[in-house]
Amino acid sequence: MTQSRDVWVFVEHEDGRVAPVSLELLGKARELADQLTGSVCALLIGHDVGQLATVAIQHGADVVLLAEDRQLAVYRTLPYARVATELIRERQPYIVLLGGTPVGRDLAPRLASALSAGLTADCTALRIGDLERRGASYRDLLFQIRPAFGGNVVATIVNPEMHPQMATVREGVMRMAEPDAERVGRIESIPVRLSSDDLVLEIVSRRMRLPAVDLSRAHVIVAGGAGVGSKKDFELIHELARALDGQVGATRAAVDAGWVSAEHQVGQTGFTVRPRLYIAAGISGAAQHLAGMDESSTIIAINTDPNAPIFQVAHYKIVGDLRRVIPQMIDAYRAQSR
Ligand code: FAD
Repeated sequence: MTQSRDVWVFVEHEDGRVAPVSLELLGKARELADQLTGSVCALLIGHDVGQLATVAIQHGADVVLLAEDRQLAVYRTLPYARVATELIRERQPYIVLLGGTPVGRDLAPRLASALSAGLTADCTALRIGDLERRGASYRDLLFQIRPAFGGNVVATIVNPEMHPQMATVREGVMRMAEPDAERVGRIESIPVRLSSDDLVLEIVSRRMRLPAVDLSRAHVIVAGGAGVGSKKDFELIHELARALDGQVGATRAAVDAGWVSAEHQVGQTGFTVRPRLYIAAGISGAAQHLAGMDESSTIIAINTDPNAPIFQVAHYKIVGDLRRVIPQMIDAYRAQSR
């Protein structure tokens, strides 16, 4: 079978809902497939998940490959990998995208290894481009872009020879397209054949701990860094966040100091966020922190050092001690909202 120009998205779901990262990826896949003049195909594996096919179509899928079986009700590496590997082998998609979630990070390397495909983990951007290398030219490759070497460089990774081109993508970095209720797509039921080898792992019970904060969807984030100085003073960050009905973010330095849990960390090894307003207090603006911020946010930075790198990306710059500035901000905001 010849190589298709299709872009596939593995659609993750939990409790009858599609994971936001899969919806974000469907939007990106739509953009890539339009450039490649291919189709977007959603790979939906599970049990009793047919209703999610419509959601995938509304978010950009042309085709949904629906593989349903009671044994697929809960994610398990082997049966999911079996279904996905066989379908990919048979239909030869050009690109396969998965969310950079625990499930995506488990499944993607398993697929890439079985298919001898190239895989880039945790991409923050994807685009189509051409490459000239050692006298050979390659057209329409997937440029897989991600921070590398501790976030000090942004690497563009390509797999010119191995197909499909596979990538996992961080949650929250791609924009989720608005669903289009008028979109029409095709749903194809895939027969599932599993062997006893695929089912050696039995799930006896599952316990889910939902994250206490969801930074990726917050409209306002007040983030604190090492400059806050202590756990006690970090309460100022919480107070401002409460006043603005926002969420608390933090740098790795603040997390490492034990002032706030890792669920609040923004950056390369934390969350990627896209709030309307991002207040960075006592944060220097290291590349690894900026990697989790988005240029579409309005950024207010508070720092005692007028030369702090954070001021290079901030729209509003307050040079001062956050312990004085933040209480004034809270008072001013409360006075105005009265
Ligand atoms: P600092 O760099 O120490 O900055 C503190 C700032 O506070 C300074 O600019 C100072 O002028 C200012 N300040 C001091 N006192 C006050 C005051 N009273 N009022 C106002 N301002 C004050 N970091 C992340 O944040 N997220 C990540 O995901 C992440 N991932 C990483 C991954 C790797 C592989 C590596 C190597 C590093 C990573 N880091 C990450 C760490 C990152 O490199 C920086 O060390 C970290 O972001 C610095 O945090 P900070 O800005 O809070 O601290």
